[in-house]
Amino acid sequence: MAENGTRNTVCVVGGGIAGLSAAVFLAEKGFEVTLVEASPKLGGRTYSFFDKKFGGVIDNGQHILASWYNDTFKLLKTIGSLDKLSFQKQLNVEFADIEGTRFSLKASNLPPPLHLAGGIMGYNALGFKDKLSLIRLVNGIKKSKWPDEELSGINTDKFFKLAGQTDGVIVKFWEPFIIAVFNAKPQQTSALLFAQMIKRGFIDKGGSELVLPNGFLNEIFSEPAREYLNTKNSVVFVNKAAREFYIKDKKVTSVISEDNIEIESDYFVCAVPFFDMPRLFANNYDEVFEKRFELEYSPIVNIHLKFNSDISEIFGSRFIGLLGTLSQWVFKVKEDQLCVVISAAEKTAEKTKEDIAELAIKELNECIPLLRGKKVISTRVLKEMRATIVPDADSLNNRPQNRTKIQNLLLAGDWTDSGLPSTIEGAVKSGKRCAEIIEKDKL
Ligand SMILES: Cc1cc2nc3c(=O)[nH]c(=O)nc-3n(C[C@H](O)[C@H](O)[C@H](O)COP(=O)(O)OP(=O)(O)OC[C@H]3O[C@@H](n4cnc5c(N)ncnc54)[C@H](O)[C@@H]3O)c2cc1C
Repeated sequence: MAENGTRNTVCVVGGGIAGLSAAVFLAEKGFEVTLVEASPKLGGRTYSFFDKKFGGVIDNGQHILASWYNDTFKLLKTIGSLDKLSFQKQLNVEFADIEGTRFSLKASNLPPPLHLAGGIMGYNALGFKDKLSLIRLVNGIKKSKWPDEELSGINTDKFFKLAGQTDGVIVKFWEPFIIAVFNAKPQQTSALLFAQMIKRGFIDKGGSELVLPNGFLNEIFSEPAREYLNTKNSVVFVNKAAREFYIKDKKVTSVISEDNIEIESDYFVCAVPFFDMPRLFANNYDEVFEKRFELEYSPIVNIHLKFNSDISEIFGSRFIGLLGTLSQWVFKVKEDQLCVVISAAEKTAEKTKEDIAELAIKELNECIPLLRGKKVISTRVLKEMRATIVPDADSLNNRPQNRTKIQNLLLAGDWTDSGLPSTIEGAVKSGKRCAEIIEKDKL
């Protein structure tokens, strides 16, 4: 409550995961939130929609979470959708190569990091020398063999040379891992961020298990978040783009929308992508920020496939990693629906959608021979050109903190300095931090 007994008000601009996270955590703390989203839907880059031509609901892209996404789990618990996630008890990933040979990477019951050492020894896509070099790298990170200052200036391709990684382990283990976690190639991924992810995923207790959505993205994120906000004295506007943050005497006093509505508030959270900032702060950029943020995006291509029959038994697992192909992962969405994922997809995205679908089906049939006789009755290829931020060594200096030079204006988004790659967890964490800063500031 403010000094006069009324609730403090916050205007959140941007209804992606970062904006929803800020809005929910603020509403939970008793703030009156107005959320303003430019597009007709909430969820930003994490959404689903009904595709009439495809004949069903699809996600804009298959999303996968990890067991260390603690702020995301807290958000979903608050809005009541945590039960829509499926948690692996132990890391268990199946792979198939172009000859149709299957490999599995399965953690054991031993304490970390030994639980993975056992799994790696049993992962037969790698030779003995590859496995040893992998274990040496993880151990080196555990023992802080390479100081942060050394890692912060280089990308992972250089780090692999430094850490004596074999070609086999790079191609059959690290590249699929880096592409899955960072949506980037080793030469585009900061060695420091990589080492931090190895600590979280391989060394910390309970960090290596994967978490999969059990339902479409809107059912897990945007719909329950909107319902929660509706019960908490908050207002959500869609189709309302902010045009400008109005600043007077070093304070934001209001947000003005494209349709000239003025929204006054005590605090403001700006949760839009970084490339929208110069336009929103065209009249006062230098008053708000120390510098211009120069970041690059990496695309992801998703190929949705609908079959004319139930293929779940043939497919077996919930998802399979593909080795030696352009397609990297394939997920079972429904009994007759699969989604093939191609990350770090700059080159693939240049191809036509027809060529991409043909390629994905061909690779799928090679890696999973039992699918060969099965008929695909509809396809939908989605190219997300601005899927995630390229996490290279340069990007580390280009991600801002949540605070700006204006005390009542905060920044959220997967591109801010959350210490994480551009992910759902990074977006949620940034929004949660804004809520914590505002609550502390108010006291
Ligand atoms: C295909 C794909 C697959 C992915 N896979 C994974 C995965 O497996 N695991 C994972 O953790 N992450 C994954 N990600 C990344 C994850 O989706 C993003 O990191 C996250 O959604 C970013 O959320 P955000 O709120 O920071 O940004 P955004 O989602 O970009 O939200 C910003 C919002 O601001 C709105 N906006 C912009 N300008 C204005 C304005 N002027 N006024 C009002 N609103 C405005 C936009 O419309 C948008 O809704 C994936 C992303 C894609 C695209």
